Amino acid sequence: MSREELRQSHYLVVSPALFGGRFRAVFSTRRAELTMLDEALYGKLVAGTFAAMSVPELAQLIARRIAVSRDEDELARVLDLERSEAAAAEARPALLLDAEGLSPKAFFAWRARCGVRAVELRLRLHGSGAAAEQRLARSLQMLHAIIEDPQFAQQRLSLQLRCELDARGQPDLLQLIEHLDEQGLLAKLRLTLAPSRCGTAMSAPEFAAFEVTVLRRLAELGHKPALLPALAAHLVASAEADTPCRSCHLLPVCGGATAEQWENSRGTPCPSIRHNLEQRLLLQIREDRRITRSLLVSEDELLEHTQPAALHSR
Ligand code: SF4
Repeated sequence: MSREELRQSHYLVVSPALFGGRFRAVFSTRRAELTMLDEALYGKLVAGTFAAMSVPELAQLIARRIAVSRDEDELARVLDLERSEAAAAEARPALLLDAEGLSPKAFFAWRARCGVRAVELRLRLHGSGAAAEQRLARSLQMLHAIIEDPQFAQQRLSLQLRCELDARGQPDLLQLIEHLDEQGLLAKLRLTLAPSRCGTAMSAPEFAAFEVTVLRRLAELGHKPALLPALAAHLVASAEADTPCRSCHLLPVCGGATAEQWENSRGTPCPSIRHNLEQRLLLQIREDRRITRSLLVSEDELLEHTQPAALHSR
């Protein structure tokens, strides 16, 4: 492929210039991969001056799908060809249970009946007042009992706690995280967030901003949350001719939404990454010290430029 035949990929999420304007974080959604580019190279990419790049630079951009051939139909490749085996094999919890009203006995009975190792527990955090507090306390008690039961370790179970929350559930969730950490339970489960369909609704950007706060706290506590999205295991946009998903640069990691989901959702059916992927990139850079060490940035620079607030204020 000659240099004149290249262009920038459509499937990129790019941070503002970081570390005194020296670097950009570039996330290829076609590969679900983060690359730090120095600002001069990023400038050439945007300007399309591939002739001014060195051979190793070009090779890196092409290998990482940051630069692609002008003739390439990227959407067709995304829809038809590039489902990686890893993404297709991504294990989703096969058993979903409601935390509310569940007993440890029922948990292990369901688990045995379904014969799965991965279980997702749904915890609803919405509303406030005594009833909501009691509900949370009961669910926590049950969570303790499940994780501390010898069967949990013996059966090598993996537990995902899906916290569905509304605007009023935010303080409860933050409290829950601290509690799980203090009790040594946080390391034994994976915590995820989803907006609740009941209660006081949050707008999509509000939810996404709160999710960043949670991810950041989990990272500070050493919980290693999944900050960057993986390739979507399934693409639902392929059969839909008329949704905005077909032109969306997040399609490979989001998977898209059906026309029906577009029609029935309040706002858009887009996941939170639509609103917070740039902040997630910053958190990832901050967490992965290998990246920042390779860029020779100081600890102070790292902190200053990877605060989610720093991005919001740009
Ligand atoms: S659902 Fe939203 S974020 Fe996902 S591909 Fe469609 S437009 Fe993009």
